[in-house]
Amino acid sequence: MTLKLRCQDYGFECNFILEGPKTIGLLEKLRKHFEEEHGIDYTTEVITQMILNRGHSLDSIRKE
Ligand SMILES: [Zn+2]
Repeated sequence: MTLKLRCQDYGFECNFILEGPKTIGLLEKLRKHFEEEHGIDYTTEVITQMILNRGHSLDSIRKE
């Protein structure tokens, strides 16, 4: 199960796209991108909520 995350879906004018297995690691990559590129230090919990708000199901997310 893969997940595609577009930075622009989260309110930034940015072409960054992450695609990969639905894991905590993928969320961490998005978190790091927000921090390094946009200077916003979201917590993993906030990012999880943002992704859920986009209609993605994270029921089967793997803890990696
Ligand atoms: Zn971005």
